[in-house]
Amino acid sequence: MKISRKKITSEFVKKVQELSGENVYACYQCGKCSAGCPLVEHMDILPHTIIRLIQIGSKDEILESKTVWLCSTCLQCMAKCPKGVDVAKIMDTLREILKREGVDKAELKKIADKMWKKLPQQALVVRFRKCSQ
Ligand code: SF4
Ligand code: SF4
Repeated sequence: MKISRKKITSEFVKKVQELSGENVYACYQCGKCSAGCPLVEHMDILPHTIIRLIQIGSKDEILESKTVWLCSTCLQCMAKCPKGVDVAKIMDTLREILKREGVDKAELKKIADKMWKKLPQQALVVRFRKCSQ
Protein backbone atom coordinates (compact mmCIF):
# COMPACT_ATOMS: atom_id res chain seq x y z
CA MET A 1 0.00 0.00 0.00
CA LYS A 2 1.52 3.28 -1.12
CA ILE A 3 0.97 6.30 1.11
CA SER A 4 1.26 9.73 -0.46
CA ARG A 5 0.44 13.32 0.44
CA LYS A 6 -1.81 13.47 -2.61
CA LYS A 7 -3.92 10.55 -1.35
CA ILE A 8 -4.09 11.82 2.24
CA THR A 9 -5.31 15.25 1.13
CA SER A 10 -7.63 13.84 -1.54
CA GLU A 11 -11.25 14.85 -2.11
CA PHE A 12 -12.27 11.40 -0.90
CA VAL A 13 -11.05 11.99 2.68
CA LYS A 14 -12.67 15.44 2.74
CA LYS A 15 -15.94 14.05 1.43
CA VAL A 16 -16.09 11.27 4.05
CA GLN A 17 -15.55 13.80 6.83
CA GLU A 18 -17.97 16.33 5.38
CA LEU A 19 -20.83 13.88 4.76
CA SER A 20 -20.44 11.94 7.99
CA GLY A 21 -19.60 14.90 10.20
CA GLU A 22 -16.92 12.69 11.80
CA ASN A 23 -13.25 13.41 12.32
CA VAL A 24 -11.50 10.28 11.03
CA TYR A 25 -8.16 11.55 12.32
CA ALA A 26 -9.44 11.25 15.91
CA CYS A 27 -9.05 7.48 15.52
CA TYR A 28 -5.82 6.19 17.03
CA GLN A 29 -6.29 2.60 15.97
CA CYS A 30 -6.98 0.99 19.32
CA GLY A 31 -9.11 -1.65 17.56
CA LYS A 32 -11.97 -1.61 20.08
CA CYS A 33 -14.52 -1.03 17.32
CA SER A 34 -13.39 -4.20 15.54
CA ALA A 35 -13.23 -6.17 18.80
CA GLY A 36 -16.88 -5.38 19.50
CA CYS A 37 -18.24 -5.87 15.98
CA PRO A 38 -20.55 -8.90 15.73
CA LEU A 39 -19.91 -9.32 12.00
CA VAL A 40 -16.16 -9.09 12.05
CA GLU A 41 -15.53 -12.73 11.17
CA HIS A 42 -17.29 -12.21 7.82
CA MET A 43 -15.47 -9.00 6.95
CA ASP A 44 -12.45 -8.89 4.67
CA ILE A 45 -11.20 -5.62 6.19
CA LEU A 46 -11.73 -4.91 9.89
CA PRO A 47 -13.67 -1.75 10.82
CA HIS A 48 -10.66 -0.03 12.41
CA THR A 49 -8.62 -0.77 9.29
CA ILE A 50 -11.35 0.83 7.16
CA ILE A 51 -10.85 3.98 9.24
CA ARG A 52 -7.09 3.77 8.72
CA LEU A 53 -7.59 3.36 4.96
CA ILE A 54 -9.73 6.50 4.95
CA GLN A 55 -7.06 8.39 6.90
CA ILE A 56 -4.51 7.56 4.22
CA GLY A 57 -6.97 8.13 1.37
CA SER A 58 -6.90 4.55 0.14
CA LYS A 59 -10.27 4.68 -1.58
CA ASP A 60 -9.69 1.82 -4.02
CA GLU A 61 -9.20 -0.75 -1.28
CA ILE A 62 -12.39 0.40 0.42
CA LEU A 63 -14.22 0.26 -2.90
CA GLU A 64 -13.34 -3.39 -3.34
CA SER A 65 -14.07 -4.40 0.24
CA LYS A 66 -17.12 -6.37 1.41
CA THR A 67 -16.98 -4.79 4.87
CA VAL A 68 -18.81 -1.58 4.03
CA TRP A 69 -21.75 -3.60 2.70
CA LEU A 70 -21.75 -6.14 5.51
CA CYS A 71 -21.93 -3.54 8.28
CA SER A 72 -25.42 -3.72 9.80
CA THR A 73 -25.29 -0.31 11.52
CA CYS A 74 -25.71 -2.02 14.89
CA LEU A 75 -23.72 0.81 16.57
CA GLN A 76 -21.62 -1.51 18.76
CA CYS A 77 -18.46 0.09 17.42
CA MET A 78 -19.64 3.58 18.25
CA ALA A 79 -20.45 2.52 21.81
CA LYS A 80 -16.94 1.07 22.25
CA CYS A 81 -14.89 3.88 20.71
CA PRO A 82 -12.92 5.82 23.36
CA LYS A 83 -12.55 8.72 20.94
CA GLY A 84 -16.23 9.02 20.09
CA VAL A 85 -15.74 8.14 16.42
CA ASP A 86 -19.04 6.99 14.92
CA VAL A 87 -17.78 4.16 12.73
CA ALA A 88 -21.32 3.13 11.75
CA LYS A 89 -21.99 6.61 10.40
CA ILE A 90 -18.75 6.47 8.45
CA MET A 91 -19.80 3.11 6.98
CA ASP A 92 -23.14 4.68 5.96
CA THR A 93 -21.23 7.52 4.33
CA LEU A 94 -18.93 5.16 2.46
CA ARG A 95 -21.93 3.29 1.04
CA GLU A 96 -23.42 6.60 0.00
CA ILE A 97 -20.21 7.68 -1.77
CA LEU A 98 -19.88 4.31 -3.50
CA LYS A 99 -23.52 4.37 -4.63
CA ARG A 100 -23.06 7.83 -6.10
CA GLU A 101 -20.29 6.27 -8.15
CA GLY A 102 -22.54 3.46 -9.34
CA VAL A 103 -21.35 0.74 -6.94
CA ASP A 104 -24.27 -0.91 -5.16
CA LYS A 105 -23.71 -4.22 -3.44
CA ALA A 106 -26.86 -4.17 -1.29
CA GLU A 107 -28.48 -6.05 -4.19
CA LEU A 108 -32.04 -6.13 -2.93
CA LYS A 109 -33.24 -7.69 -6.19
CA LYS A 110 -31.13 -10.76 -5.48
CA ILE A 111 -33.25 -11.81 -2.49
CA ALA A 112 -35.27 -14.76 -3.74
CA ASP A 113 -39.08 -14.46 -3.46
CA LYS A 114 -39.33 -17.40 -1.06
CA MET A 115 -36.83 -15.74 1.30
CA TRP A 116 -38.90 -12.60 1.94
CA LYS A 117 -41.10 -14.31 4.55
CA LYS A 118 -38.24 -16.20 6.17
CA LEU A 119 -35.73 -13.42 6.71
CA PRO A 120 -35.78 -11.65 10.08
CA GLN A 121 -37.43 -8.23 9.80
CA GLN A 122 -34.31 -6.58 11.19
CA ALA A 123 -32.22 -8.01 8.35
CA LEU A 124 -34.65 -6.61 5.78
CA VAL A 125 -34.77 -3.19 7.43
CA VAL A 126 -30.98 -3.00 7.40
CA ARG A 127 -30.86 -4.08 3.74
CA PHE A 128 -33.47 -1.47 2.77
CA ARG A 129 -31.53 1.20 4.60
CA LYS A 130 -28.49 0.40 2.53
CA CYS A 131 -30.56 0.82 -0.64
CA SER A 132 -32.30 4.02 0.32
CA GLN A 133 -29.54 6.22 1.70
S1 SF4 B 1 -22.06 -0.79 13.07
FE1 SF4 B 1 -21.09 -2.07 11.53
S2 SF4 B 1 -18.90 -1.94 11.93
FE2 SF4 B 1 -19.96 -1.17 13.73
S3 SF4 B 1 -20.12 -2.94 15.09
FE3 SF4 B 1 -22.01 -2.86 13.90
S4 SF4 B 1 -21.65 -4.15 12.11
FE4 SF4 B 1 -19.65 -3.71 13.03
S1 SF4 C 1 -12.53 2.26 18.58
FE1 SF4 C 1 -12.39 4.38 17.80
S2 SF4 C 1 -10.26 4.99 18.16
FE2 SF4 C 1 -10.35 2.77 18.38
S3 SF4 C 1 -9.83 1.99 16.31
FE3 SF4 C 1 -12.05 2.14 16.39
S4 SF4 C 1 -12.56 4.16 15.58
FE4 SF4 C 1 -10.39 4.15 16.09
